[in-house]
Amino acid sequence: MVKTKMKMSNSKNLFEKAKKLMPGGVNSPVRAFDPYPFFTSHSQGSKLYDVDNNSYIDYCLAYGPLILGHTHPKIIEAVKDQLTKGTLHGTPSELEIKIAELIIKHYPSIDMLRLINSGTEATMHAIRAARGYTAKEKIIKFEGCYHGAHDSVLVKAGSGATTFSAPNSLGIPSATTKNTIVIPFNNLEVLDTVIKQNPDEIAAVILEPVIGNSGLILPKKGYLQEIRNITKEEGILLIFDEVITGFRLSYGGAQEYYNIVPDLTTLGKIIGGGFPLAAYGGKKEIMEKISPLGKVYQASTFSGNPISVIAGLTTLKILLNEKDKLYNQLEQNCLKIKSGVHDTLNDLGITAQFNNIASMFQLFFTSIPVNDYNSACKADRSKFRAFHQELMKNHVFIPPSQFETCFISSAHSNDDLNKTIEAFDLALRKIL
Ligand code: PMP
Repeated sequence: MVKTKMKMSNSKNLFEKAKKLMPGGVNSPVRAFDPYPFFTSHSQGSKLYDVDNNSYIDYCLAYGPLILGHTHPKIIEAVKDQLTKGTLHGTPSELEIKIAELIIKHYPSIDMLRLINSGTEATMHAIRAARGYTAKEKIIKFEGCYHGAHDSVLVKAGSGATTFSAPNSLGIPSATTKNTIVIPFNNLEVLDTVIKQNPDEIAAVILEPVIGNSGLILPKKGYLQEIRNITKEEGILLIFDEVITGFRLSYGGAQEYYNIVPDLTTLGKIIGGGFPLAAYGGKKEIMEKISPLGKVYQASTFSGNPISVIAGLTTLKILLNEKDKLYNQLEQNCLKIKSGVHDTLNDLGITAQFNNIASMFQLFFTSIPVNDYNSACKADRSKFRAFHQELMKNHVFIPPSQFETCFISSAHSNDDLNKTIEAFDLALRKIL
């Protein structure tokens, strides 16, 4: 790879303008990084192209949705076709049935679902449904899990909330957060204790079965099954937030991967094929509490809009057709990057943690295993920032925070992977 000094002046100028118009110059905090983010002009396949004509092999993939890469031709074609038929009807359409049928068929825990627009809405409404169904108010969430930007879950939240030192956001009434009990991940004793301390008060336990918002953190062997057993015994609903892991760990998500049946599931990211679409669903008796059948209210002007749905449906159909090969190939590609990183680290005599599962990975600059929020927070973030900057100079873009996860798409070619391994090697040698 020939390294030349990168021109960034157009991005810099746009950032100066953007800063005056939007807080931090961005429309979502995770997109901000020092000294300024590059501004994308277009994206295609595995790559992002910026306004200064630089290209980057992209492992951020818009924070997870783009498992088929940017601007997949079949998705673009389907969306173009739908544009001429209507962008928003405000009435039901058959497309909504088609995507619901496809999801329900492959997620046996889901009898019924609702389509909405974002992961934030999905978890907000799943929690409301759980509270409405159980007539209880408290929920248990885990340190470092991120479930979107709404009041009940912005407590010790990962992702941008931790990156920007606001894991407990200002502006949220204490009356709300007193009903959110936050405990460490991968620790069954604490879960047991808080359940005993709050008898008959807990509506639901919500978690990312694999945490993708504190870097990448995997559940210990048997941990998810134990949570399922305990919640069932105690009459507490189990909500799997599969906004990242759905259709990512496997077609049937983390629940298929680990063979666990939650009571409620939230989906987002991949199911929209690059457009805003999310869903929550679960057991019939819980979902029948949702308005107009029941008295748990939830509504949205844009939910189930035909553009998002056709993009999502096309994506899920492609994944279904290719799943037997595709998920395995993505995992092999992830292992290839891991092996490259290990070679460099061994050569340098340095220990770091490379956590990975399926097509997700993250690197932590620490000698201790990272299996919860606390251990993730102990990793050297300044080294991570330097690593991110060096990778950019070598035309590779990973999410700009330690508290995010890298994703691989089916558009990443062998050539991309080889260039990536070379870029990781150069970057690690520079910063360590
Ligand atoms: N849940 C999880 C696990 C997420 O990773 C995210 C977003 N990164 C959300 C919920 C919120 O989704 P959205 O940004 O679409 O509101």
